[in-house]
Amino acid sequence: MAIQRLHERVIAQIAAGEVIERPASVVKELLENSIDAQSTSIHIDILGTGTNQIRVSDNGIGIKPDEVELALVRYATSKLQHINDLDTITTLGFRGEALASISAVSRMVLTSRHQDATVGVQVVTEGGEVERVQRVGTPNGTTVTVENLFFNTPARLKFLKSDATEKRHITAVVMNYAMAYPHIRFELTQDGREQLHTDGTGNLADALVSILGVEEFSKMVDVEWKNNGGDVSRIHGYTSIPDYSRADRSRITLFVNGRAVQDPKLSFAVVQAYHTFLMQGRFPIAILCIEVNPSFVDVNVHPAKAEVRFSDPNLVFSAVQRAVRHAILQNTSPIVNTRFATTSPFPSQSFSRQNSLEFSDGTSGQFARQRDLYQPPQGVDPVEIFSEIEPPLKPRSLPMLRVVGQISASYIIAEGPSGMYLIDQHAAHERILYEQFMEEHANSNMRVQLALENDVVQLAPLDAQLIEEHRLTLQSLGIDLETFGGGMFKVRSVPALLSHTSPQAIIATIVSDLENGKVPGQEALEERIVKRICKQVAVKAGQVLSLTEMQSIIRQLERCVSPHTCPHGRPTIIHMNADQLAREFGRVGRR
Ligand code: ADP
Ligand code: MG
Repeated sequence: MAIQRLHERVIAQIAAGEVIERPASVVKELLENSIDAQSTSIHIDILGTGTNQIRVSDNGIGIKPDEVELALVRYATSKLQHINDLDTITTLGFRGEALASISAVSRMVLTSRHQDATVGVQVVTEGGEVERVQRVGTPNGTTVTVENLFFNTPARLKFLKSDATEKRHITAVVMNYAMAYPHIRFELTQDGREQLHTDGTGNLADALVSILGVEEFSKMVDVEWKNNGGDVSRIHGYTSIPDYSRADRSRITLFVNGRAVQDPKLSFAVVQAYHTFLMQGRFPIAILCIEVNPSFVDVNVHPAKAEVRFSDPNLVFSAVQRAVRHAILQNTSPIVNTRFATTSPFPSQSFSRQNSLEFSDGTSGQFARQRDLYQPPQGVDPVEIFSEIEPPLKPRSLPMLRVVGQISASYIIAEGPSGMYLIDQHAAHERILYEQFMEEHANSNMRVQLALENDVVQLAPLDAQLIEEHRLTLQSLGIDLETFGGGMFKVRSVPALLSHTSPQAIIATIVSDLENGKVPGQEALEERIVKRICKQVAVKAGQVLSLTEMQSIIRQLERCVSPHTCPHGRPTIIHMNADQLAREFGRVGRR
């Protein structure tokens, strides 16, 4: 075939493939336009899987009558003029491609009335060709109806997934925007049935309750992190409590300046924040809005704009990790009497959170009378495990629990002010020891000087650079390195707990931690501590404990920072409150 220029229409169809991959991409692009147009209410109506019909209608500023046709032209946009504008861009769109792309692969009807116009304009296109333009009476705002999507690109049609999958993608897109823009009212119907709606109260908590349901929302704690003037200025949203997790990371939703982004590294930062709180293979649910200086992020990486690039990815990584870690640490150890009163940035929260972490005062004594009924197991000579019952006074993270007894020589059964607590003695003791060792380590500053003749480690240039950049941080962590230039390093001193590892292994760990934005060496330390505990832990499952020993474990657990999980992330406590007990015994409604 001779070389020839492609026809405009073919170019449009090929280019459309980059932006419009599936029905959900149409929904995404139309929603972004509606949001950019300052709408306060957006309706999305889908027929079938969306290939039959997608309609998005908004009450935004609309398009001026003489610009409506231009809006459909490729690279025509009202959002950007110069390339430098990208540095300060606050709109979701800017490439001027969406309407052109959608119209190239469908039959599209766009009706819009600008807020200053007395009459609206309607354009009908088919396969990118304008068929009709006419003035129409229509309310303020814009409605785009897309029918027969991919009718002229059968290959694309063939690659669509099952109906259910495509519908799910659409719902996910709408969910995302409804969460990122709580001040906008969203309503999604599929085949006339309402799938989702939010009220546009401006309150993220309200939007989340509408989208996730009260039940799931009650398992979330709020994240609020601020750094005024920093490139990453604020991170806010919600993240799940450690007791509530998923088998995959698909429910970690991240927005960067209002744009839903897929960034495996940032999702990893969220997962990382749950280190020692979640079991391997379990993942949290999180909705986080990350606000960054627009010049710090490049949004023009991908035609569908699903990816962004930061000028310093590690900065965002550690901010996300810190924000989430802080939220879970604060909220997994509520102080007695707080009834889970987190300092929510959303004062108008219009529902009450029911949560298994809810406590009231444990000192009421209403259950203390039964104490004398306990008889220690007969005929056993329990090993003396703890000499002291009272641990040093730290803030309480659990209500005061009364030990009732032991089951299967493995579980301690206890009573608290709000029901029954079953405690895995082994897991609980691991948690106690883990926190003790971590604290000891933090207080001790124990360093070990390595022998002078220890090997010189040769690093690749990029790794060497990374180490050089972070030398001060490393020093503050007790890791002292000597540089010989040319990527050669010698390890001078390390925290005592790391000293059994070879210098090569220490440096490899540090490099990989730095690359992943983690605190260098921290995880290796934690791992060592966990290993040490596992070897040394006194209380095993199957060990009969005296009342004093059980009380000692419970007293110490009550003051752990994170009493609910062992260092491997497994639960330490099963709590059943009075309501749950009543329900289990079929007493509900008859009390
Ligand atoms: P972009 O959003 O990148 O500018 P689009 O092709 O999506 O490109 O839209 C082209 C232009 O049409 C926009 O810049 C905007 O001016 C106008 N437009 C599209 N949708 C709407 C809408 N719902 N309300 C108001 N104006 C709109
Ligand atoms: Mg757009």
